[in-house]
Amino acid sequence: MSYGMLVDYEWCSGCHSCEVACDVEATHAHFPKGHCGVKVHEEGLYKIGEEKWADIFMPIFTDLCDTCAARRAAGEELPTCVKHCQAHVLKFGELGELAKDLAAKPKQVLYAF
Ligand code: SF4
Ligand code: SF4
Repeated sequence: MSYGMLVDYEWCSGCHSCEVACDVEATHAHFPKGHCGVKVHEEGLYKIGEEKWADIFMPIFTDLCDTCAARRAAGEELPTCVKHCQAHVLKFGELGELAKDLAAKPKQVLYAF
């Protein structure tokens, strides 16, 4: 089965909980210090109209992301970043199913693993 991660970045608050969850996950103890499977990028405030400003946060999945394979093999249903995203920005699953969800809404990106 091919897996993917659908990111509905329209609702990403930039809270970094996904990064922290990945960093402290016990099965990721071998990751290099200071690096983990996801990094949240902030575009920075920019003006989009008279007295109207916008910003974009985007979780970027790195080559360290192993889709929490060991954690899931041990019986956890979800990768830890997905579980700890309170805004429900992250959706993990079968790539083909996520591609259908991608087509249903703008301001999303789909990572294929
Ligand atoms: S799926 Fe697991 S390894 Fe990948 S970024 Fe999320 S917490 Fe880290
Ligand atoms: S993806 Fe979720 S946990 Fe990560 S920064 Fe965005 S809102 Fe926070």
